[in-house]
Amino acid sequence: MSEAAPGPAPRACIVGWPVKHSRSPLIHGHWLETLGLAGSYGREEVSPEAFPSFLKTLQARGYVGCNVTVPHKEAAYRTVEVATDRARALEVVNTVWFENGVLHGDNTDIVGFVSSLDADAPGWADGAGHALVLGAGGAARAIVAGLLDRQVGLVTVLNRTRDRAETLARFFGKRVQAARWEDLSQLLHSADLLVNATSLGMTGQPALDVSLEGLRPGAVVTDAVYVPLETPLLREARARGARTVDGLGMLLHQAASGFEHWFGRLPEVTPELRALVVADIQKSHPA
Ligand code: NAP
Repeated sequence: MSEAAPGPAPRACIVGWPVKHSRSPLIHGHWLETLGLAGSYGREEVSPEAFPSFLKTLQARGYVGCNVTVPHKEAAYRTVEVATDRARALEVVNTVWFENGVLHGDNTDIVGFVSSLDADAPGWADGAGHALVLGAGGAARAIVAGLLDRQVGLVTVLNRTRDRAETLARFFGKRVQAARWEDLSQLLHSADLLVNATSLGMTGQPALDVSLEGLRPGAVVTDAVYVPLETPLLREARARGARTVDGLGMLLHQAASGFEHWFGRLPEVTPELRALVVADIQKSHPA
């Protein structure tokens, strides 16, 4: 009896607008190569107007799934047929795949954030009473969810636009409060954890102009920004005796579960993968 012919190699992609900056193809390409799997991962630049119909026709376009990045994550949530509890909790989807032809969506930024801290600041959540989160956008929402999942007692959100911080606090309930951006210096002394979830400090964006005076040595400071890898925030935090975690770990860890859905193996975030992406960042943004 002859064996059934193998199907076509699975294809996945990242969908964004723009998308050429994305390092996801590098990450997934590395895993495909090192695991010796057939498959490919590309980029699709799709406008907001075209996105819903693009996603609905993903399978007809030959894809087994995709990652979704700015500005499509909320639209992806509205378009998938089945969303995980995590995606439903945030109303944001960044990873899409098919089960029996049905379009599923998840938010893997939450696990990406938590896994990155677990790997690079072990024990970070043990007894953590208070976390400060700068920013109230999509990244902040996933980060707050991750902090609450890991039983951080209280999360204070500070944002340029106060209303957005208050909306986010209401969304999560009584363990999350909003504060004014100017209150940071008073709040720092009680913080076990400080997270930058704004785009400030990223190459090409304004600096994150905050003083870390009062930060407790031993606090954990992490930045969602990963270009540059060592942001001025992390440099100052380290100088003050804090444990620091850069934003690249979150990017690498959020990618793993999508890969498993599309290509059938759960990949590892290894030092080799990190070195590959660091080299790429340094090539495109020399220090
Ligand atoms: P977003 O939804 O557009 O939110 C942007 C946030 O930055 C908002 O809180 C915004 O404040 C604040 N902000 C922007 N410009 C500002 C300024 N000039 N002054 C003060 N605040 C300013 O973006 P996002 O998706 O949350 O992404 C935020 C950052 O996280 C980006 O750098 C992104 O690359 C990074 N990120 C990293 C990962 C990772 O895996 N490491 C994952 C997701 C995102 P307002 O509300 O006042 O506008």
